[in-house]
Amino acid sequence: MNMRKAQLYINGTWVEEPRAVEPVKNPYTGEVIGEQQLATPDDVERALASAFAAKKDIARIPAYERARILKKASMLLEERKETFARYISEELGKPLKNTLDEVSRSIETLEQSAEEAKRLFGETIPGDASARGVKAVAVTFRVPVGVVAAITPFNAPLNLICHKVGPAFAAGNTVVLKPAPQTPLIATELLKLLLEAGLPPRAINMVLGGAEVGQQIVKDDRVNVISFTGGVVASRNICALAGMKKVLLELGGNAATIVHEDADLKRAAALCAKTGYSNSGQSCISVQRIYVHESVVEPFTDLLKREVEALKVGDPLLPDTDVGCMVDERAADRVMDWIDEAIAGGATLVCGGKRRGATVEPTVLFNPPKRSKVVCEEVFGPVVSVIPYRTIDEAIAETNDSAFGLQAGLFTNRMDIVYQVAEALDVGGVVINGTSNFRLDHWPYGGVKNSGIGREGPRYAIEEMTEMKMIVWQFPQG
Ligand code: NAD
Repeated sequence: MNMRKAQLYINGTWVEEPRAVEPVKNPYTGEVIGEQQLATPDDVERALASAFAAKKDIARIPAYERARILKKASMLLEERKETFARYISEELGKPLKNTLDEVSRSIETLEQSAEEAKRLFGETIPGDASARGVKAVAVTFRVPVGVVAAITPFNAPLNLICHKVGPAFAAGNTVVLKPAPQTPLIATELLKLLLEAGLPPRAINMVLGGAEVGQQIVKDDRVNVISFTGGVVASRNICALAGMKKVLLELGGNAATIVHEDADLKRAAALCAKTGYSNSGQSCISVQRIYVHESVVEPFTDLLKREVEALKVGDPLLPDTDVGCMVDERAADRVMDWIDEAIAGGATLVCGGKRRGATVEPTVLFNPPKRSKVVCEEVFGPVVSVIPYRTIDEAIAETNDSAFGLQAGLFTNRMDIVYQVAEALDVGGVVINGTSNFRLDHWPYGGVKNSGIGREGPRYAIEEMTEMKMIVWQFPQG
C-alpha cells in the first residue's frame, strides 16, 4: 500500500520542511497507512497571520466566483466518490456503505454552500416606524466576519469539514482548519481537491495536531468566529479560552427515540437497527435510548434483536459490511466498560456485548439503570438501550432528563401525540416516524443544552459566519 501523507498547508504552500510526524493507522487492521506532520506553535502562528492578512482580499471575491469554485469542488468530489469513501473507511474503520453516504452528503454540502453564496440577502427597513425616522431608510447587507476557525472531529471527517469550509468561503471568509488528529489524511485529500477546484490558496490554512493546536487557534484575537464540532469537554475549554468571540458549537448527545403503542413496530425496529449502529454508533445523533410503550415493548425488542443480529459486522472495506470498528481500541475498551456497568446495575443483555480489537458487536441492552452511563452519557458506540414507559408524559420526561438535547425520534401515527411530544421535547429537532439519526445537510441542525450553540447547514452557518451591516439614508426634510 502507498503510504499517504497528511501535510500542513500554510500561507498558500504545503509545508515540505521536516516536522515531527505521527503514524496514521487503519484501526481495523492496525496497519500503518500514512503519517501526519504535527504543527509547531510557530506554524499555527503563521497560519493565523496568513488568514488574517488575506481576509480583505478573500472578502472582495464576488459571490458568483465563490459559488463557481464550490460548485466545481462538489463536481470533482462526485468524480472521486469511491476513492474518497475508501480513504475514509481505511482511516476510520467506517464501513464503505456509510462512507459512500458521507461522500454523497459532502457533495451536497459543497453544492448547497455554492448556491447559498449567491443568496446573502439583506432587507430594506423604512425609518418611519419611529417619529425620528420619517425621512430615513436603512438597508442591510451580510458581510463576512473575516477569519473562521474550523475545528472538526473524527467521526464524519469529510462532511463536517465541508460544513465549515463550504459556508465560510461562501460567505467570503478565510479559514484556519484544524481537523481531528485521527483523520488527517482525508482532510489533506479534501484540501487538495478544493485547491484544484480553484479555492484561492490564501483562503485556507490547515494545521494538524491535537488539543494544544486547537487551543492556540481559539485563543487568538485574529479569529472572528470559532466553528467547533466535537465533545462537550473540549467545548467548555474552548469557551473559557475564546474571550470575546462568537463560538458555534455542534456537540454530542444521548439521543432518544420514542416508540408509541400505535407505532409500526417493524419499521421502527428496522430503522433503529440501521441508525443505532452505523459507524459503530459514532454519530452525535445515533439512536442510544429507545423508550418503548410497555404494551409493545416485548414484540419490539424481539424485532429489534432480529434486525441487529442480522447486521453484518466485519471488514469496513467490504461492500456489504454494516458495522466496522470503532476509531481505536481505547474507544472500544470504554464502551465495553459501560456495557459491563449497565449489566452489573441490572440491565439485561439482549444481544452483542463482545468485542474483538477495536470492533464492538452491535449491542442491545434492556432496561439499564436510569443513572448508568449508557443512559445518561453519550455512548458514542454501538450500544442501544430499550427502556419501557407507561405514559407518553413519562417518555417525554425521561427523554428530557438529559444534559443533552440534539435530536429525537418518535414513532406514532397519532397527530395529538406528535404535537404533544414535538412541543415538549427540549431538542433541536424531532423526527416523526423516523429515529433521532436523520439529517439532511441543508436543514438547520444543532442542539440545545450541552448539545451546542448555533445551527449548521450551509444557509444557517453562513448567517452565523457573517455580520449584518447597515447603511442608513437620511433624506432632506421637505
Ligand atoms: P473531541 O472534542 O475530542 O475533538 C474534536 C476536535 O477538537 C479535534 O480536532 C480535537 O483535536 C479538537 N480539540 C480537542 N480539545 C480541544 C481544545 N481544548 N481546544 C481546541 N480544540 C480541541 O471530539 P471527537 O472525539 O473528535 O468527536 C466526537 C464528538 O463530536 C462527540 O461528542 C460527537 O457527538 C461530537 N459530534 C457532534 C456533531 C454535531 O454536529 N453536533 C457531529 C459529529 C460529532
